[in-house]
Amino acid sequence: MARPGRVLLVDNSRTFSMVIAAALTDRLEIEVTIADSLGAAARVLDDETGCDNVVLVISGLVLPDAKESEIVAFFTGRDLPLVVLTGTFDTASRERILSHPVIDYVLKDNPSSIDYVVWLVRRIWRNRDMTALVVDHTPSDRAMLSGLLHLYGFTVLEAEDGTQGLTIAETTPRLDLVVTDYEMPGLDGIQLVRRLRIRHPRDRLAIIGLSSSTGAISAQFIKNGANDYLNKAFQPEELFCRIAQNVENIENIASLHALATTDPLTGLRNRRSFFELAQSRFRTLTQSGRPVAVAMIDVDHFKRINDGWGHDCGDRVLIELARVLAETTLDGDVVGRLGGEEFCLLAADLDETSDFFDSLRRTVAALSPRFGDETLHVTISIGVCVRAGDGRADSLRALLTAADRALYNAKRLGRNRVEYA
Ligand code: GH3
Ligand code: MG
Ligand code: MG
Repeated sequence: MARPGRVLLVDNSRTFSMVIAAALTDRLEIEVTIADSLGAAARVLDDETGCDNVVLVISGLVLPDAKESEIVAFFTGRDLPLVVLTGTFDTASRERILSHPVIDYVLKDNPSSIDYVVWLVRRIWRNRDMTALVVDHTPSDRAMLSGLLHLYGFTVLEAEDGTQGLTIAETTPRLDLVVTDYEMPGLDGIQLVRRLRIRHPRDRLAIIGLSSSTGAISAQFIKNGANDYLNKAFQPEELFCRIAQNVENIENIASLHALATTDPLTGLRNRRSFFELAQSRFRTLTQSGRPVAVAMIDVDHFKRINDGWGHDCGDRVLIELARVLAETTLDGDVVGRLGGEEFCLLAADLDETSDFFDSLRRTVAALSPRFGDETLHVTISIGVCVRAGDGRADSLRALLTAADRALYNAKRLGRNRVEYA
């Protein structure tokens, strides 16, 4: 897990704490500090390093030195995100606890509660990389919502009406979640959703609509692009579950998208994703009259590397080469693995006089990756086709074909060289 920080786990049962701690450490690689009393927990928090480090407290309600209400008040009073663990379900106690700003109330009465705690902690850790925007005209409601989202780990921005919400959304580089009320002066919640959806598709930004009135508002929110809707009389637990579910959907789509567009061995764009982006980059560059170079790059005698050193060694050569390509290219360039040991690069503002491709060739030839005691010599051949920014109407496909032919020439003329179409 990328984010630092630890969980403070407070429970009178050492066995139970050890099981939860092991699950969090093994499955999420999150550090856990265990305390068996409120006094011990306080000592951890008062320790200089402990207090900044604790991101989340998970606490039982039966401790040797404090009553239930003291436990909850102690942690929430210090603004610490708290998940309460309890052995029995008791409506009165649940309501008492949930009247405090706690994240969740988890029953530890069955083995699946450990999975639930792991899920909850993973969710909160991931939320810490996310930004949420709360849009509500009523200051107390806005404060309550931001407070909860902050507890769930989000970086929280606030807007007091739809217009301000829209401005913030358009100027925030990465927004993951918007929670918006319906009734607001000017732009109302539904109008805001409509405007947001012009630039923020529902598989990238989760929007949850809220309203205190019943009736058609929920359907209106969803029909206009919200991912979900909640009545304002929600229970905090419900808000947490809905947010988690919607944010998780977006994460799942993002990981499917990454799987579909990334070459698993090298991490570069795969063939389809390369062509998609290269096509749009090519169009932009052509329209602004800038020169474009397309290069086909192929490892020389790669089959010999596989045959002589093994397939794993071949794979490592491909990974190394991909790393060099990713490091040498600039932000606006597009690089991908077209298949096997063949890569393609589209770069802006390069012409035949540029040393770029020959320098790339030399870098690879100088790599000399070591396998065991022996040094391997890897070379590449490059075929380049340059299109000057003079308005000629060649297609990207025509450039690729020409670059491919140039690559063939480079091979024919002895390999480890750059040939121009
Ligand atoms: P040339 O210099 O003419 O390009 O010769 P070459 O041996 O590099 O070309 P050839 O097309 O004959 O061989 C490419 C080899 O790449 C054949 C294939 O088994 C191997 N290959 C394709 N994909 C992978 C991969 O993902 N990993 C490894 N290790 N080998 C791969
Ligand atoms: Mg080859
Ligand atoms: Mg090849």
